[in-house]
Amino acid sequence: MKLLLEIKAELENITSLEPLDNNFTFFFQVQCTSCREVHPGWVTVNRHEQVELSGSKGATAHFVWRCKFCKRESSAKFVEAYPFRSYESENAQFEPLLQIECRGLEFVGFDPRGIWKCKGTTGTVFPEVDLTEGEWNDYDEKAALPVSVSDIESRWGKA
Ligand SMILES: [Zn+2]
Repeated sequence: MKLLLEIKAELENITSLEPLDNNFTFFFQVQCTSCREVHPGWVTVNRHEQVELSGSKGATAHFVWRCKFCKRESSAKFVEAYPFRSYESENAQFEPLLQIECRGLEFVGFDPRGIWKCKGTTGTVFPEVDLTEGEWNDYDEKAALPVSVSDIESRWGKA
C-alpha cells in the first residue's frame, strides 16, 4: 500500500518550505496493520539508510519493524520516483510532501522536528530552519521583514 504524507503550515513572507536535503530523518508514528497496535514512540526513517529484510536474500527497505504484540515483521520504502516535494501553499492548504510504500504497517503520525530550508519572498534562502519546537522565526534582511513558519499540521492518506 502506498501512503501519501501531506503537510500544511502558515508561512510568513516565505514562499517554499522543504526538508534540508535527501538525508533528512523523518519521525513517524507507526501502526501494525495486523493487530492495529500503535507503537508508543516515534520511529525514524531516512531515505539514505536501508535495512535488509529478514529471510529475503538481500531485499531492503528504508524501515523494518517487528510488532511487539503480534511479532510480525513489516517494512516501508520511499517511492523512488517520488522525491520530497516543496511546500508552497499561499493559503496554508494541505500539499503532498512524500510517498512511501508500506507492507504490514501504516504510518499514522508525523513530527516535523529537524532541519528544513525555506525561501523568502526576496529569494533569500534560509538553510537552517529548525522545526524541532514546531515553529521557526527569523528576519529577512533584504526585505526588512520578519519570516516565520508555524501551525504545522500533517495527515496521512492513500497515495
Ligand atoms: Zn501487530
